[in-house]
Parts: sequence; C-alpha cells; structure tokens
Amino acid sequence: MIYRELGSTGLKAGVIGMGAEHLEGKPFGLIEEVISAANRKGVNMMDLFMPGMEVRRDIGRALRGMRGQFMIQGSIGSVEENGQYSISRDLDACRRYFEDLLPALETDHIDFGMFFFMDTQDALDQVMKNGIADYAWKLKQDGVIRHVGATSHNPLIARRMVEMGLIETLMFSVNPAFDMSPSDATIDMLFSENPGLRTANMDSARMSLYLLCEQKGVGITCMKTLCAGKLLSKEHTPFTSPLSVGQCIHYALSRPAVASVMLGYQSAGEIEEACRYLAMEESEKDYGAVLKAGGNLIDGACVYCSHCQPCPAGIDIASVHRYLDIARLDKAHVPPSVRQHYASLKAGGRACVSCGSCEDRCPIHVQVIQNMAEAAEIFGS
Ligand code: SF4
Ligand code: SF4
Repeated sequence: MIYRELGSTGLKAGVIGMGAEHLEGKPFGLIEEVISAANRKGVNMMDLFMPGMEVRRDIGRALRGMRGQFMIQGSIGSVEENGQYSISRDLDACRRYFEDLLPALETDHIDFGMFFFMDTQDALDQVMKNGIADYAWKLKQDGVIRHVGATSHNPLIARRMVEMGLIETLMFSVNPAFDMSPSDATIDMLFSENPGLRTANMDSARMSLYLLCEQKGVGITCMKTLCAGKLLSKEHTPFTSPLSVGQCIHYALSRPAVASVMLGYQSAGEIEEACRYLAMEESEKDYGAVLKAGGNLIDGACVYCSHCQPCPAGIDIASVHRYLDIARLDKAHVPPSVRQHYASLKAGGRACVSCGSCEDRCPIHVQVIQNMAEAAEIFGS
C-alpha cells in the first residue's frame, strides 16, 4: 500500500480505501472475508455511513482484533426511516444514530465524525442552527471522535465548510465526469444520462475546491470514483472511450489534497483488483488521452495526468503544476506544507532545460516551460 498524509490530521491514509456500503445485506462470512482481505492489503480507511444495526454489528464483529488497523468515517445525520436509510438534521436523531455506532463497532471512538450529505445551503444552515456542529466538535473535545469531517457532492457547499473552518476532512465525489459538470449540479443531475449536462471544460469550482483543501490542510477522501461504473462502460461513459479502474483511481489521486479513494467491494477479488493499481506502470494509469479525446479539456490548464513524462531533467511535471496552482491562489502566503512538499520533489522547475518534449506530448497544450519558470520563481528552486 502507498500511504498519504490526510491533510493536517497527522494521519496517513492508504491510497486505496474502502466504502462499506456494498456490505449492506451481505452474509457475515462475506463481510469478514472482504474486511480481512482489505486488512491484508494494507487498506486502513473505511467509510461507514449506513445506519442499519445489522450491518454495523457485522462489521464490528468482522473488525475484532483489527479495529486499530482501520480508521473509520462514521456519519452524523445518516438515519433510518421506515427501514430505509435517510438524512436527518435533527440533533437527537443524529446523536442517537451516531452513538449507536460505538457499541455496534465494539469501539470507544470513531476516527472521523462526518456531517452527512452536505449538498445544500439548507443542510449547512441546519447543521449550524440545530446544534449538530457544536455536538460534533464536543465529541472531538471528549475524544469520542478524533476529527470532524463532512461528505458532499457540491463544491460550493464544501468550499463554504472549508472556509468556515467547520471540517478537517472532506469526503467528496471525484471523477472526471463530475469534474466537467456544472458546480451547481445536484447528485441526481450528476448521475443523469443527459450528455448535454457536461460543460465544455473542467469545472473551476471543483478544481479550486481541491486546491483550497490542499492550501488549508483539509484532506480529501473520494467517493463515486468510478461514477457508479459508468466510466468503465462503453455504453454509458460520457467520453469517447471508457476508462479502466486504474485510470479512474489515478485521476482521483491526482487531484490536489486527495489522500484516499474509497471504493466499494463485494468480494476479496475486487479488493485485489483495486490494489493492482499500486503496481501499474505510469502508461497504464494515464487518463490524459481519454479525457482529451472526449473534447472536454480546457487547453492550457494542467490536469496532472503525467502524459508528458518522462522529463530528461527528472522533473515530476504534474506535481510541480499541482503545487504551482496552489501557490497561485495566494502567492504572498504559500502554505509552508506546500513549500515543503515542493522542496521534497527530486527536481523543481529550475531544473527545466527547455527541451520542449513535454509540451509536444501534453494533450492539452500546457505551457510547461513557462510554468516551470514561474514555479522556480515562487519556490526558489
Ligand atoms: S521542457 Fe523542461 S519540464 Fe519539459 S521535459 Fe524538458 S526539461 Fe522537462
Ligand atoms: S502538463 Fe499536460 S501532460 Fe503534463 S501533467 Fe499537465 S496536463 Fe498532463
């Protein structure tokens, strides 16, 4: 497993994580098999939003002896109504379902308490007004949760939560189809079959959210990485050809601030398949050409695909662009962590010898040489 820092939490998350939703309704034996396989592969992040007691207890039982090896995202606001899962902004209901999670998982703490499904201003207003935000931060103060986070599909609301300092981590829907959808699209619109939904370019609100999270030290875990399988399907992909699982994972992991991709698994084999990403050649992970063929990429704005490698000067061109884009948000106040990350690169922009080979290979005509010079000026190397 490869581990990444999760924002400023001081925690390291495996890049391949686990969303537990597909374990709902499954026999205990299968749940145990999937969790054991995840543990063997070094998966250490699990999202568990389901409010049902049976699946919670089964997961708790399967985690016996392994609880310390998993960091769990538990939802605040995911509840059951008439036997089905629903969303509540009522403090008592949030409290009841969250606190039920602890005995079910046979644990005394949850690593991340996540405000659930924060997609609208109304949801945010209710979390603030109804005492749910205060409740979560009190849980943190008491050591019941270690960090406060939120799940969201809406970049504008997610941004507000980051700017308010309300959250330390964010679980966000990240895939190239969503990244090319309008920022105010609802989750239903995002999953609609309407190809007219897509805008011509990467949505700047999503890109700027990722950059802001990196700047503010808010780590991102990803959901909907495969767009419910649509990106893998020739019939349903919005692009001219499907992407592979590895390319989808790589796309999400290439966004700034992203630490882990929380895929859902229904068998140990599916975990093996996801973890195959860890051994892939760069060429297998490269998604740049597929996105460009879809005609949706804005010329000149780096999408961190690494299609331009190799560089004779040993520069990781995508990473330099990632840190440069964050620095451009506020050149006078580049976060020390970003400077540190840049300094730890094998070679910075100053090493560029202007050979131009990367610009020939870049599918979207990024002015790499010019950008390398700008990075060298900002970061001093
Ligand atoms: S132009 Fe600069 S960054 Fe691009 S491949 Fe050549 S040396 Fe590397
Ligand atoms: S410069 Fe072009 S090819 Fe290289 S990472 Fe950026 S978008 Fe991809």
